[in-house]
Amino acid sequence: MRLILFGPPGAGKGTQAKLIAERHNVEHISTGDVLREAVKNGTDVGMKAKSYMDKGELVPDQVVIDIIKDKISTLENSSFMLDGFPRTEAQARELDNMLNDQNLGIDSVVMLDVDDEEVIKRITGRQELEGRKDDSEEVARNRLSVYREQTSPLEKYYKNRNILEKINGEGEIEEVYKRIENILKSIK
Ligand code: AMP
Repeated sequence: MRLILFGPPGAGKGTQAKLIAERHNVEHISTGDVLREAVKNGTDVGMKAKSYMDKGELVPDQVVIDIIKDKISTLENSSFMLDGFPRTEAQARELDNMLNDQNLGIDSVVMLDVDDEEVIKRITGRQELEGRKDDSEEVARNRLSVYREQTSPLEKYYKNRNILEKINGEGEIEEVYKRIENILKSIK
C-alpha cells in the first residue's frame, strides 16, 4: 500500500498516520518529524530548516526531496504512507519521477478536510500539550495561508488522476479513522 495523507496543518494527519501504521504493515514517513529530529540534533539539514519551520514557511523543496529519496530507498518493502509530503507541485512531480523509476504508483491520496477555525483551535491546543514553537496562533495562521497558497493546488493535481479521496476530518479520532479504513479496504 502506498498512501499520501494530505490536508492542512492541524487536520490530524500525524495522529491518523500513527494509527494506520500500528494497524497495517506500512511505514510512516513524516517530513515534519524528520526535520524536527534534525533540528534537535543540530545537523546540517536541521540548521537549514529551522528558520523556515519557526516562521511556518516551507523548507526548500530540495531539502525535503532528499529526505524522501533517502527514506524511500531504504524501505524494506515498497509500502509507505507519506505524512506532510508532498507540499508543493515540484515535490509531487519529483515523487512521481522517483516512483516511476521503480514502476510504482500511489494507491490513494487521503485528504482530511477540516474547517480553518477548527484547524487553528486544534493547533493552538496542541501547543499547550507539546510546546511546538510553530504552533503559536500567529505561526499557525501563517502555516494555514502557506497551505492555501502552495499546497492546496495539489488537491486538483491528484483529483485529475482519480486518486484523491476527500474525507471529513472533523469528529472523534476513531470516527475519522473509520472513514480512512473504508478507503484502505478498497485498495488492498
Ligand atoms: P508538519 O509537522 O508536517 O506540520 O511540518 C512542520 C514544518 O516542517 C512545516 O511547517 C514546514 O516548515 C516543514 N515541512 C514539513 N514537511 C515539509 C515539506 N514537504 N515541504 C516543505 N516544508 C516541510
